Amino acid sequence: MGSNEFKGVMVFSEDFEIILELLSIGRELADKLQTALSAALIGYNVSEEYGQELIKHGADKVYIVDNSLLEQFNVEPYADVLLKLVNDYKPEIILIGATKRGKELAPRLATKLNAGCMTECSKLDIDDEGRLVANRLVYGGSSVAVGIFRTKPQIVTVPPHLFEKLEPSDRTGEIVKINVEVKEPRTRVVERKKKEVVGVRLEEAPIIIAGGRGLKSKEDFKLLEELAKVLGGQVGCTRPIAADYGWFTNWIGISGVKIKPKLYIAVGISGAIQHTAGIMDSKIIVAINKDEEAPIFKAADYGIVGDLYKVVPALTEAFKKLLK
Ligand SMILES: Cc1cc2nc3c(=O)[nH]c(=O)nc-3n(C[C@H](O)[C@H](O)[C@H](O)COP(=O)(O)OP(=O)(O)OC[C@H]3O[C@@H](n4cnc5c(N)ncnc54)[C@H](O)[C@@H]3O)c2cc1C
Repeated sequence: MGSNEFKGVMVFSEDFEIILELLSIGRELADKLQTALSAALIGYNVSEEYGQELIKHGADKVYIVDNSLLEQFNVEPYADVLLKLVNDYKPEIILIGATKRGKELAPRLATKLNAGCMTECSKLDIDDEGRLVANRLVYGGSSVAVGIFRTKPQIVTVPPHLFEKLEPSDRTGEIVKINVEVKEPRTRVVERKKKEVVGVRLEEAPIIIAGGRGLKSKEDFKLLEELAKVLGGQVGCTRPIAADYGWFTNWIGISGVKIKPKLYIAVGISGAIQHTAGIMDSKIIVAINKDEEAPIFKAADYGIVGDLYKVVPALTEAFKKLLK
């Protein structure tokens, strides 16, 4: 296939909310290329209403592939279905949500198409020659790699919650139902267990107070919990607190959860690059550290130099009075 045969932007995720987010950046790219934006909606008993919802959020076309073998996500049939869509409609750019499943799917699709694939792209643009330019964080988040593709289609995965979905509008589009012969996958899920999550997931929390090795014991995290309670926030931590001490199950940072709260308060956290790479999408960052040279202050909008054991209770009291 020659590169010129490819036209249009296609988005896919197994998570409907993430398709909406991808449509937002997809719309931007499609408009720059003056081309159409399509979405692949794959599953079982897929209602057309979902397709209409995608059109309202920016899609020109929605391809619905509905088959009982697609009820649960399984990478083999999903990759086959996407392969068929790409071969038939030849989009030049394919955006896939970088969920665990999307990250498994994208390279498989790329291999089947003998195409390039860039993963976890944080910024996407079109250059003067109409090529996709993708930025990704590398070296633990300390540098940005800027990549372009030599061939088409250009496949990228995009982390969830990076782009805000567009406001719905009364725009019109086309829904195309596609019949794809789906092969029985070679693997089968035999049991599903829900992961226990206490409170709101950190990825979605609007206010996060996180603690680092400046806290001397697990019990001391109660100080953060009290502040979180007053502010209506969640408590998080750095990697050593979870991975080394086992006080929490997950941590914030490049190798953990990436967050984008309205307010992030880092308590007794030095601000290692691996940590700050996961907090940079926070709207406001406040740091509390007794060392005025701590790197966290460079990432912070507001800094308090002081002993957390004095500062945090004082803040809790002050907010209690303020928010009464
Ligand atoms: C491949 C790799 C991936 C990694 N991924 C991550 C990641 O995703 N997330 C992550 O967090 N880390 C990650 N790390 C670890 C990271 O490099 C740092 O080691 C870690 O973030 C440091 O955690 P910390 O800030 O809690 O501890 P420290 O660096 O020890 O900092 C503790 C801070 O507390 C301050 N402090 C001490 N006592 C007080 C007090 N009484 N009052 C106020 N301040 C006080 C100190 O001044 C210090 O700045 C990764 C490392 C590697 C190698």
